This record gives sequence, C-alpha cells and structure tokens, in this order.
Amino acid sequence: MHAMVLRRVKAPLEWTELPDRHPGHNEIRVKVLACGVCRTDLHVVDGELPDPKLPFIPGHEIVGRIDAVGAGVKELQIGERVGIPWLGYTDGTCPYCLMQRENLCDHPLFTGFTRDGGYATSAIADARFAYPLGEAGSDVSMAPFLCAGLIGWRSLVIAGDAKKIGFYGFGAAAHILAQVARWQGRSVYAFTRSGDERTQGFAKSLGALWAGGSEEVPPEPLDAAIIFAPVGALVPLALKAVRKGGRVVCAGIHMSDIPSFPYRLLWEERELLSVANLTRQDGLDFLHLAPQVGIKVTTKQYPLKEANQALADLRAGRLEGAAVLTP
Ligand SMILES: [Zn+2]
Ligand SMILES: [Zn+2]
Repeated sequence: MHAMVLRRVKAPLEWTELPDRHPGHNEIRVKVLACGVCRTDLHVVDGELPDPKLPFIPGHEIVGRIDAVGAGVKELQIGERVGIPWLGYTDGTCPYCLMQRENLCDHPLFTGFTRDGGYATSAIADARFAYPLGEAGSDVSMAPFLCAGLIGWRSLVIAGDAKKIGFYGFGAAAHILAQVARWQGRSVYAFTRSGDERTQGFAKSLGALWAGGSEEVPPEPLDAAIIFAPVGALVPLALKAVRKGGRVVCAGIHMSDIPSFPYRLLWEERELLSVANLTRQDGLDFLHLAPQVGIKVTTKQYPLKEANQALADLRAGRLEGAAVLTP
C-alpha cells in the first residue's frame, strides 16, 4: 500500500510505500476509493491538536470498498462500499459511553489521528464504526459527508429549532448544511471573510437568504449561529448577531483564542457551546437524511500524491466546497 504520511508536524506529508496490513478482530480493510480533506487535517498537520503519535496517516472522510474482514465482523462483507468517519473506536464502558455520549468517550480512537486514516490506497477500520453506503452516489461526492456532513449535522441539531440560522465560515460543512437547513424550511445567513464575494455568491446559489462579511450585522437577529471557521474572534460577533435566548455553537475541534468581550453579549440567556466529535447515531441519522435532501456536493478532486497541495488550497481559502483525494 501507499500513503501520505505525517512524520513531523508543520512538515509536508511524505508519499510512502508501506507493507500491506491485515484486519484484526472486529476490523475491516478497505481499498480507499476517495478521502475528503477536512479542516481538522490542517490542525493535525500544524500540530494544533494535543499529543500527536507520529508518524501516522491523516484522513477521516473515507469512502472505501471492503477487501478483507477480520474475525468477529458480522455486519459487513467483502465487496461492500463503506464510509469511515472520524470516530474510529470507543470503549463502550466509560461514564460517557454509558450515558449515550460516546462522542465524549474517555478512551476513543480517531481516524486519521490516533489511528491511521485514508490518505492512502488502503485503510483498516473497526467495523462497528463504519457505515454501509450502498451504491448510490459517487465516491467523491460521498466522502465529504463523513465529517463535514456528519459533524455539521450534529452541530445543526445542537443549534436547536432555529428558524433563522447563521453559518460563520462557508466551507465544506456549511455548504452541505445550508442545503439541509433550507430543506428543513429554515432561513440561512452566510458569513464569510469580508470581501469574499465569490463565496458569498456560492452561499446564495445554495439557498442562503443573505450573505455578507463576518463583521456585518445580519438584516434581522438570528435564532442561532454555527461557527465553522477556526477563528475565536467570531464568537463575540456571533453572540452579537443572535437574539435574546439565542444559541451560538462552535463546530470546530480547534479555534484561535477567543478575545475578551463585554458580558452584555452573553446576557439575556444567550448560550455558547461547542460540538465535539460525533456519535454513531449522528452518522446514521445524517446518512438516512442526505438522499431525501438531495444534497449537491461541490468538490475539487486531487490525486492522493497531491494531498499537500489540497491542504495548501484549503488553508488559503482557495476552495469552494470540499477537497477530495483519490488514489
Ligand atoms: Zn467510552
Ligand atoms: Zn473532519
């Protein structure tokens, strides 16, 4: 197998030949068909997440076809197409797992971080955390569902029944969730880097009622806002944009520091909270919903060997929608 391997943080990934691996108990091996590039991969490569166990293979939006199964695998078979998300394993026994919050598990493994991911021709996954995808939809267009879609969906659920919802940062996740929110009958307000008219136009083409710069005040107060961009300065701006009792959800795994802000922005029972990881049920719910919504995923495809270029384009904001690697 071949993979793009992270050996040192803040260094380019290296194209590497590795021995073929064999699935262990409860594991499957897939031939990778496509792997999405997520902003979390940038945080991983930049060393912004704690305790990276180097070297490893990034990538947690994997669409693959099973070519080997280990002992104990009952639900999945060789030849099936599956999706492999960020949540790669939970212990099932810690207090969080027992309270149905496995996204907060004390002993988790994360695909493309604490277990090898999908920037590769082949990947191993715990079968209990993989999703059967069926054959509808292209490999490339399904890949961004596995994180941008799934964790975006969890963020949208946590935002509550907001009719007027703002999205700060209109990348892979927001471009999927805007379509879901519209389908649910909500009004979407898209906030981008100021002056980024191209992305604002993209948001409007996907049904956003309004699009503007993140410093702008929306035409009416929002019921909730989701912050997808890893920019702490957006927190007070989003609190300013929501109505009394409104909710601001931080959807990313990492954010720059949040600047201090006057208490009156939080006052009047506004809520500020974060979303961490996902549960398997979040994924099942989203993958059940996605075909009904008819989500159109905008992708830019890169050969696996050009993963560093894909990451650079994501970092520079040169992408509309999602970058996807194909072996
Ligand atoms: Zn647990
Ligand atoms: Zn992700």
